[in-house]
Amino acid sequence: MPIFQSATYEYSGELGYHDVRYLRTNNTPTQLALQAKLAALEAAEAALVTASGMAAISTTLLTLLSAGDHLLAQSCLYGGTHDLLTRDLPALGIRHDFIDADRPDSWRDRLTPNTRAVYVEAMTNPLLEVADLKAVAEFARAHNLISIIDNTFASPVNFRPIEAGFDLVVHSATKYLAGHSDIIAGAAAGSQKWMARVRQMVIYLGGSMDPGAAFLLIRGIKTMGVRLQQQCANAMAVAKFLEQHPKVAHVHYPGLKSHADHALAKKQMKGFGSMLAFDLKGGLPAARKFCDRIQLFLLAASLGGVESLVVLPIYSSHYKMSARELAAAGVTPGTVRVSVGLEDAHDLIADLQQALA
Ligand SMILES: *Cc1c(COP(=O)(O)O)cnc(C)c1O
Repeated sequence: MPIFQSATYEYSGELGYHDVRYLRTNNTPTQLALQAKLAALEAAEAALVTASGMAAISTTLLTLLSAGDHLLAQSCLYGGTHDLLTRDLPALGIRHDFIDADRPDSWRDRLTPNTRAVYVEAMTNPLLEVADLKAVAEFARAHNLISIIDNTFASPVNFRPIEAGFDLVVHSATKYLAGHSDIIAGAAAGSQKWMARVRQMVIYLGGSMDPGAAFLLIRGIKTMGVRLQQQCANAMAVAKFLEQHPKVAHVHYPGLKSHADHALAKKQMKGFGSMLAFDLKGGLPAARKFCDRIQLFLLAASLGGVESLVVLPIYSSHYKMSARELAAAGVTPGTVRVSVGLEDAHDLIADLQQALA
C-alpha cells in the first residue's frame, strides 16, 4: 500500500461534508486500507486509526461519556489514561470509580444509576496482572454497560477482545502493532454503530493519522505475527533466566507458573507477551547500577518494538508516588521493567548476566 501524501482529494461525486476525502476525516486511501486491516485483526466490524494511542483513548471516552456519566475503570491504568480520568474528565462532569479487576464480586457495589461503561487493560503495567477479561465483558453486558479494553499489552495476536465479548478495543499502535519504535499511532475498533460515532468525534478533536505513519503501521503489521512469536519466546527465556538468578527477588511474567495470574493468562491468551518486570534484592542502588551496566538493552520508555528496552518504574510510570502508593501498586524501588525485543535470546541473557554481576 503506497503513501498517498495528500491532505485533500478531488471530488468524485461526494455531496456531504463528511464524504469529502480529507486526511482529518479518515477516509483517504492509506487510512482506509489500514482501518480495514485493523478491523480484520480485531475481528471487529470497523476500526479507526488515530495519531496516537492517547488520541484513540481520549476520543473513544469522550464519544461514549458526557456530563453526569460515571465510568468504572480498572485500578492501575496506563498513566495517560489515569490522568485523563482523574484530572480532566471530572471537569467535564464525568466521574469514575476504580475497581479491583481481580475481584469480580466487588464490581457490583461500585455501580451507580449513571454508570455507562467499564474500562480495563489486557495486562497491567509493570506487573503484568491479568484480569478475568471474559468476566468483565459479561458483567458489562449484564448491567447494560459499554465495555472498553486497552489491548496494547496483549496485541491482537495474543488476545482478541471482541471475540471475548467486549464492545470496543483501543490500542497504542505505537507498540506491538507498529513494532519498530519509529511512529506514534493509535487505533480503536468495534461495531459499525460505535465506530461511526468515534469517527465523528475524531473529526472534531482532530487526532487523525498522517499517511506516513499509516504506511509504517501497515508495514509493521505485516510482520506482527512472527515478531510476537519470537518476542514471547525471548521473554520466556529471559524470565526463566532471571527467576533463577540469586540477585533477583521476584520475576513478574504471566508465562511463569509463579505469576499469580498465570492460569488466567494461559486460559485467555494465545501468548504471554514480551513485557516483564523483576525486583532486585539490592533495591534502588542495585537497580541504578544495573541500568548503568546494561548494554544491549536500551534504557528507554515505550515497549513492544524490535529492540529490548529497560526502564525503572519509579523514574517513569510510577514517578512521584509515595512509598505507600508504590507498595499498594506492588512496585519496589528495585523493580526493573523490561520490554523484550527480537535480539538473539543468548545475547540478551549474556547482557543481563554481566549487568547483574
Ligand atoms: C503507550 C500506551 C498508551 C499511550 O499510547 P501513545 O501511543 O503513547 O499515545 C496507552 N495505553 C497503553 C497500555 C500504553 O502502553
